[in-house]
Amino acid sequence: MTVTRPGACEICSAFWVTGLGRAETIGSSDGFMAEIRRCRNCGAYWEVGAFSLPRVISRAQAEVELPDLEALERDLGIAFPEPPDLPSRG
Ligand SMILES: [Zn+2]
Repeated sequence: MTVTRPGACEICSAFWVTGLGRAETIGSSDGFMAEIRRCRNCGAYWEVGAFSLPRVISRAQAEVELPDLEALERDLGIAFPEPPDLPSRG
């Protein structure tokens, strides 16, 4: 069974269950001890922490964790779609 994460598509959500549809790695943040990945299909950003469960984050949060996000994405040369809106929490 796959549960689509809020703000992400079924493909990248399913990766954590099936191991298929892995999002592209954008870079790693030493400060946050996490890897930032982005889904080719929906454009969602994922924070994959060394000591925490993977979660969908906003582009703004991805930029906090990876200040050179834009340059890293340019180097990848992948045309990512705009990420879906994340539901506000609380
Ligand atoms: Zn996705």
